[in-house]
Amino acid sequence: MDLAKNIELLIKVQALDTRTYELNRLKGEKPRALEEFRQAVQLEKDSLARAKEDLKAIQLKKKDKELELQKKEEEVKKFQTQLYQIKSNKEYKALVGQIEGLKADDSVLEEEIIVFFDEIDKANKEISEAEDSLKKEEAKLKEAEETLKKEISQINSELDKLRGEKEKIIANIDKIILGKYEHILKNKNGLAMAQLVNDVCQGCNMNVPPQVINEIKMKKELIICESCSRILYIME
Ligand SMILES: [Zn+2]
Repeated sequence: MDLAKNIELLIKVQALDTRTYELNRLKGEKPRALEEFRQAVQLEKDSLARAKEDLKAIQLKKKDKELELQKKEEEVKKFQTQLYQIKSNKEYKALVGQIEGLKADDSVLEEEIIVFFDEIDKANKEISEAEDSLKKEEAKLKEAEETLKKEISQINSELDKLRGEKEKIIANIDKIILGKYEHILKNKNGLAMAQLVNDVCQGCNMNVPPQVINEIKMKKELIICESCSRILYIME
């Protein structure tokens, strides 16, 4: 088989390989699209965790106040029973004063506890809002993952198709020539065949000397670009 025919087939194979390299690159980049969705989910998880911590802190403060209130109420009861045992008027008055003082403290504590109830309501609302947002972001992530899965499987089936087409063509290419092509393809990031346009190699954008252009036109042997080492060809 003549070289011209081999080059003609290699140009076809290159078109398939160019698409294959592009698809493989795309396949590698695609999962990065999920990153922003994952980050959004993480942000919502963080704010949910914070809201839960806030609630816990408020509940603890409320519990402290309730214990304090309980203690004071017990003291009031204790003093009230002591009232019956007191004989002197002075002591009685002093104890009544103490009881009044404790009762005043109690109502201050009760008011503080009521404020905590409001804060707990607010914190619970924030938690349920954060849960809703989290669900939404998780749904978006899931959707993006499904889309990615479909895209990847489309890419894979196109890659299979390209592989099949390439196999059919390379069956008719000289094994040594094909070996050179594959070697350059691998080393030159998916581009082994460089077209010559207006005396310029499209693989490296360098000018090709007239002597080399003549050699390409003669089609006696494979001509390699001196600067990028790709196989040069001219479209007729
Ligand atoms: Zn070149």
